Amino acid sequence: MDKEHIKKELKKLFKSMDFISKRFLDKEQPETKEFQTYFNIYQQLGLAWEFLGLQCEHWDGYRKTRDKKEVCKICGKVKGVDDRYLILDSQKKVIGKKLMPNSKKTFENKKKATVLNDTIKFHGAALSVDVHNSYKSSLFGDKHKINIADERIVELKESGVVCSVDQHLINVRFDKNKGKKKYGGFLWELKKEQLKHFPVIFEFDDDYNFLGLRILR
Ligand SMILES: [Zn+2]
Repeated sequence: MDKEHIKKELKKLFKSMDFISKRFLDKEQPETKEFQTYFNIYQQLGLAWEFLGLQCEHWDGYRKTRDKKEVCKICGKVKGVDDRYLILDSQKKVIGKKLMPNSKKTFENKKKATVLNDTIKFHGAALSVDVHNSYKSSLFGDKHKINIADERIVELKESGVVCSVDQHLINVRFDKNKGKKKYGGFLWELKKEQLKHFPVIFEFDDDYNFLGLRILR
């Protein structure tokens, strides 16, 4: 974003923050639900300020405040204070917290059972987290509803490979094989000739404890 755009956005944002604070937060009734709602809105606007402020390069310099701090004329950030928001921290980015299914109930549909369903495109890789409680699915028609168990599924898509992890399974699939007829089997069910088709290396320790596997592309 360029300077003019950021300037404009920040101006609008400060207006909104002023509006909320003067209109709704000046009142002396902090116990009400309404107050809490506006308080939350104010906090969220504060987040937006953090984000916009990160993109400000303080083009117009700083002005002195009454308490002798120097703040940016555009974004209002104090000079020299490193207040980058967590999500954009250059060392380690943290977005959201780990959520798990949180109810024993079986919900009417997936939407109602959803705890979190979020996807992020991150430097070209797609990562999605789907957390839901148990629900009734009409996958096989309304007459044959089946119960889908609660679960947390994390899925990563990267250059034609889809890897998903949930409480019971670690699944690796190749995108290109979508729609093909699929078979499955444990290793010991397959013949050596068949096994030769699979470029998989198993990793294990001295006692044959399974440590992982590698797939050659
Ligand atoms: Zn600034």
